[in-house]
Amino acid sequence: MAPIFFDTHCHLQGPRFSAELGSVLDRAHRQGVTHMVCCGTREDDWGRVLELSRRHTAILPMLGLHPWYAHKAQPGWLERLESLLQNAPAGLGECGLDFAPENPDRPVQEAVFRSQLHLAVKLNRPLSIHCRQLLVNYKVPTSFKFLSEIPKNSVGKALRRKLRGHSSPKG
Ligand SMILES: [Zn+2]
Repeated sequence: MAPIFFDTHCHLQGPRFSAELGSVLDRAHRQGVTHMVCCGTREDDWGRVLELSRRHTAILPMLGLHPWYAHKAQPGWLERLESLLQNAPAGLGECGLDFAPENPDRPVQEAVFRSQLHLAVKLNRPLSIHCRQLLVNYKVPTSFKFLSEIPKNSVGKALRRKLRGHSSPKG
């Protein structure tokens, strides 16, 4: 039996794929990729992600605000994200924290990430988390203090366990 693959994270909505998306999907399918999770990164691409998922059953949508774009969030972005998620079978992502030196807006990133964690728990949706240079640039064990704010339902408990694992020095 040929192997079956599931791509957990891609960005097929980008302009570099617009001309050849059909052949990209064909090649993936021929290699045994049955589904691809396509992660939005900012408000501008959420519509495209949803459109692709409606046109191609292999594409599963996620909508979120990526840490690289957190500082560009427009007022009302969270309400618009919630409204879209309530009307679409989509997960929440890509969201997270990126503490590489070229991404200095850490308090903004954290606030945007926290809002999306709460929304994922509230709507009971899967998350796709971007996590870069946290162990190098984030004070442990004070990191992720905000995890205690997450509701203690089953999704919240699983999420806290997972993120605490990522924030510990031993990983
Ligand atoms: Zn990504």
